[in-house]
Amino acid sequence: MEIISDYLVIGSGIAGLSLALKTAALGTVILITKKEKAESNTNYAQGGIATVVSSLDTFELHITDTLKTGMGLSHKESVEVMIKEAPDRLNELIHVGVAFTEKDGLLDLGREGGHSRNRIVHAHDHTGAEIERALLYAISIHPNITLLEDHIAIDLITEHHLGFQVKNDTPIHCWGAYVLDVKNNVVKKFLASRTILASGGVGHVYLHTTNPLIATGDGVAMAYRAGALIGNMEFIQFHPTSLFNSGSPSFLISEAIRGFGGKLFTKRNEEFMNRYDARGSLASRDIVAQAIDIELKKSGDEYVLLDLRHLDSESIKQKFPLIYKTCLEKFKLDITSESIPVVPAAHYSCGGVITDLNGRTGIENLYACGEVAMTGVHGANRLASNSLLEAIVFAHRAFEDMRLNKKNNPDMIPKIPEWDDSGTFDSEEWVLIEHDRKEIQQIMWDYVGIVRSNLRLERAERRLNLIKNEIENYYKRTKVTEGLIELRNLATVSDLIIKSAISRKESRGLHYTTDYPQKDDKNCLQDTIISRFES
Ligand SMILES: Cc1cc2nc3c(=O)[nH]c(=O)nc-3n(C[C@H](O)[C@H](O)[C@H](O)COP(=O)(O)OP(=O)(O)OC[C@H]3O[C@@H](n4cnc5c(N)ncnc54)[C@H](O)[C@@H]3O)c2cc1C
Repeated sequence: MEIISDYLVIGSGIAGLSLALKTAALGTVILITKKEKAESNTNYAQGGIATVVSSLDTFELHITDTLKTGMGLSHKESVEVMIKEAPDRLNELIHVGVAFTEKDGLLDLGREGGHSRNRIVHAHDHTGAEIERALLYAISIHPNITLLEDHIAIDLITEHHLGFQVKNDTPIHCWGAYVLDVKNNVVKKFLASRTILASGGVGHVYLHTTNPLIATGDGVAMAYRAGALIGNMEFIQFHPTSLFNSGSPSFLISEAIRGFGGKLFTKRNEEFMNRYDARGSLASRDIVAQAIDIELKKSGDEYVLLDLRHLDSESIKQKFPLIYKTCLEKFKLDITSESIPVVPAAHYSCGGVITDLNGRTGIENLYACGEVAMTGVHGANRLASNSLLEAIVFAHRAFEDMRLNKKNNPDMIPKIPEWDDSGTFDSEEWVLIEHDRKEIQQIMWDYVGIVRSNLRLERAERRLNLIKNEIENYYKRTKVTEGLIELRNLATVSDLIIKSAISRKESRGLHYTTDYPQKDDKNCLQDTIISRFES
């Protein structure tokens, strides 16, 4: 089955929705998304969008804060572009109907770790959900946009599908994607003059993550297979305190709880943070995550405890109503009288598909924006609330690039073969997929998590290679399912993270290895770039 549009957008988070809405002025848009339309990392974002709107703030300060957090690897030009264009993009969101929280008639500006001024524009503590609501409504009434739920992209359509050998120097074009319509169990061919990857993050590579189930790195894996360059995959941000065993996504226990006086203990009642940092439990996000990881690996315990029992219970209820209520009602845990079991959880991927300042990948007609992309903004660590911002700014720049270089001409697309699954069989082996998925997540958590070493990374590489080959064989023999597509992508992305981590011979930002504990080695000031043609 062949479906043609001018633009094919993959993903319905902030990047895909905001871009679809704009490109609809240029031609027909099909937006596919693999689950229910609001299900995305965007929908869970709490804090907000960092933007310079206060007279007490300047672009220069926000740029400095971002570059400092990126530990020498942020691309200055990308950072400047993002921060200077932020107010215009924010105004567009307001115009679309996003109701940001106000105070005395002005936007209420919050402050988060690493920011030197109050600049976090938010909609109470459910900013992402409010953005999704407003953008989805605007999309639903636009005549040029067709949104298809339960459609999961399998692979980008490129020269690889025309049956000839693609080499390092072959120019590669993207003409759309093969997509599984999950409800009807049929693979469709979506053709488009321009394809935009807005498929979000990779959290489910790890056992514990704050990301919803959609975050399986599909976009990075598809782009890698198609021949795009992938960058900086070793820089995965972990949030130090998510509620242990709270399902998927893990429920976040805000850092503000430690700010309020909450203290971290091992299960043996030792207050361990003082051994790692003079600020104790109040140390920064990356230090606390590293300390918890070391303690868990040493003891074999599954979690540490966050204790608030010494604090006034009425103040806790008043200050943290969502956390108090969710823990009590959903997890039967009274945080005023019981310690909270917490683990760090994978939260954000700083790396991704390498793009230029206009969202272009190295593949002709293929753009990437949002968490799937590596624009160079975050470098080795992400400053809080810069990711929603990166998504809207670079989605807009991709739109401008497509507008100025308009190419609505489906006649330019060569004859693309139908999806060929002859010789494959319907598998009932769900257990194989589930088992491999858990094994990958466990390997990545144990060996490629917050604290790394050569020994752990090499062991992870060996084990993952075995699983990856098994999955690839199984994939070739079996009819595709959603589970199998995701599993194959998880294996690919894990491999990219491991390879990137092995190649970085220093500790920088979110990549900490005990074999190269020295930080910020001036000889290593470059991005890690991986291409399928080199492996
Ligand atoms: C709990 C939490 C809190 C956060 N808080 C903040 C915050 O306060 N501020 C901030 O700036 N950032 C925050 N972040 C990060 C931020 O939310 C994300 O980086 C951002 O929302 C990513 O947007 P996106 O559009 O790129 O991807 P997403 O919003 O993740 O959307 C990806 C879309 O792609 C679809 N998709 C994926 N694969 C396929 C496929 N193969 N086929 C079809 N569709 C596919 C998904 O279903 C989804 O619709 C937070 C993240 C989490 C998890």
